[in-house]
Parts: sequence; C-alpha cells; structure tokens
Amino acid sequence: MPLTLTVDRSRWQSHHRTVLEDVPGLVPVAKGNGYGFGLGTLAAEATRLGVRSVAVGIAQEVGAVRAAGFTGDVVVLNPWRPFDDAATSLLGDARIITTVSRAEDLRALSVARPGARVIVELETSMHRHGLAAGELTPADFAGLGFEGWAVHLPSGGSLDEARQLSGAALAVRRGPVWASHLSVPDYRSLRTALGVRTHMRVGTRLWLGDKRAYSTTATVLDLHRVRARSTLGYHQVRAPRDGWIVVVSGGTAHGVALAAPTPQRSLRQRGVTVAQGVLDAFGRSLSPFTIAGRKRAFAEPPHMHSSMVFVPGADPGVAVGDEVPVTTRMTTVTADEIRMA
Ligand SMILES: *Cc1c(COP(=O)(O)O)cnc(C)c1O
Repeated sequence: MPLTLTVDRSRWQSHHRTVLEDVPGLVPVAKGNGYGFGLGTLAAEATRLGVRSVAVGIAQEVGAVRAAGFTGDVVVLNPWRPFDDAATSLLGDARIITTVSRAEDLRALSVARPGARVIVELETSMHRHGLAAGELTPADFAGLGFEGWAVHLPSGGSLDEARQLSGAALAVRRGPVWASHLSVPDYRSLRTALGVRTHMRVGTRLWLGDKRAYSTTATVLDLHRVRARSTLGYHQVRAPRDGWIVVVSGGTAHGVALAAPTPQRSLRQRGVTVAQGVLDAFGRSLSPFTIAGRKRAFAEPPHMHSSMVFVPGADPGVAVGDEVPVTTRMTTVTADEIRMA
C-alpha cells in the first residue's frame, strides 16, 4: 500500500537520448534523493546512455553509483575541504574527479596528493563556492591531474559571464570547461567560442525534463465518515462539517507536503503565493493529494507514512485500494516503490 512513482520507461529514456544529442559533453548529475528515482536507477541510466562520466553531490554518494555498476569517471561536485575525510579517502581513486574551490586547498593537494584528478571551480555571480582564476599560478597545479575549470552559474545563467570567467581561467591554464545551468544554445555558443573540450552537468532537465514520463500516486488505505464538529486525529481537531476522512499513503517519511521556500522576488509574487491557497475555506492546509478531482485539505498534519485528508459531503468519491494523484517535489520525495511501466 505504498506511495508509488510510476515511470513510462520508454518515454523517460527517449527524453534522455534527446538531451544527450542536444548537449555534447553531457555529464548526468545523480545526487541527493536521485531526483526521486534513486541514485542506483540514475547510475544505471547513465551506463545505458554510454556517458564517460557522471557527477554526484558528495563523496558519500559515490558508493551507490558504483554499486549500480557505473564504471566511468565520477565527478564529486561539492568542493573538497581538508576536514572532509570521505572526500579525502577518494583522492587516490583513479576514476574520481575532485572539485577544488580554494587556492589553499589546491596548493595543499598539490603537495600532499600528487596524481589526484581535480577540477578547479571558479567563483561566479552565485557566490557559493569558487575562486578567481587570477589567484592561481601554473605552479599551484604541480603534480595534480588537472581536469579543467568549473563554472556553476545561477539559474538561467548568462553566456557572457560564462565566457568571461572561462576566458580568464584558460589564460592561466588551458583545460576543459565544465559548465552548469546554461541554456543549451548558450552552452553550444560557449563551446564554440572557447575552443576547448566542454562538459555540462545536468540533473533536472535530464531526469525531470519530460513531466509526462513519470507520476506519483498514493493509495487510499481507509475511509471514515465523520460528523461536523466531531474530533479526529492525534490532535483531536474538529471536523469542519459532515464528510469523510480519507487515509492515504504518503507522509513525512516520504517527504510529502514538504514545501521548500520559493524565491519571492516581488510583492506581486508574494501575493500570488498567498492567494494560491495554501489554506482551504476552513483555514486548513491544502494537501498535495487529489481526491475526486480536487486537491483536498489535510484533516491534520501528515503522519510518518500516511496522511489524513478531509473530503466534505456524503460521498468520498474513492474506495479503499484506489490510487490517487499526488503532487510531489521530485527533489524531496522518496517513493516506496518505483514501477517501471
Ligand atoms: C546539482 C548541480 C547541478 C545539476 O543541477 P540541476 O539544476 O538539477 O540540473 C549542476 N552543477 C552543480 C555544481 C550542481 O551542484
């Protein structure tokens, strides 16, 4: 009676092939919850696509990608730090490429870990990790296997910025450029402009780019008729009117109904978010479950593996065992089962 992710395998895979053809030098990103599919599934897809390298977020994710049979290079995206023992233990692995983002870290590795394969990350307008190419001299790379420069842009990143930063870096040392978050046309322009080998690290557009290739459903586990004002749930809140409690699979353990903060750039956007109705007419939080054609309110906050949803009226519109659609955020959801259809 699980929360199920159903994947239309041939449709999903055909989208991957389209992206691979559009993006020469594609590096699939398999990190975190595996974009809802799991790291193993993504690693197996990367093998099938025949790419030479994949990227993970952190050193601790490498094991899952290897266990799924991926034998190519694995790029660790989060930059190495001297106190990161898991990342340090991978430095001697000839098929691991470590990201380095501070001049002192590059110098330390050059002295202590000759032969380690590294990508040097540049600081962009993101201002997350990265250094200015001008901080480095060719001597700082001595002994290391230099695999190139990384340019990680904000979403909808600008070609001008990518070109400028890469140009300055290539003047310090020539090598491949590994971009993130450029549009495909901008990435292709960058590739032509630079005249070096390029790669682009892609997760969301690859795995989640064809929204019709996958869907999440919950199972109706129980139904209870309740009267207006009767109490229910852990918190013994009162039913707003006569109706049904529909118990569905999917709760906090699955990451269901976790809302990530959305960027609120304008007052108008804030207004829209409020108006979108996170609350129903009774002031209850709207759930991500669609029952009888509509998103319904939580009767109370979600439990670990299931949720209690309130459906007003005489007919709940569903029966025990039915599957109902759930709106999930694929980077936070963990389904119990993946059904490859
Ligand atoms: C996660 C990540 C990506 C992939 O991001 P998507 O938006 O999922 O495509 C690319 N580059 C870096 C450095 C990342 O951390």
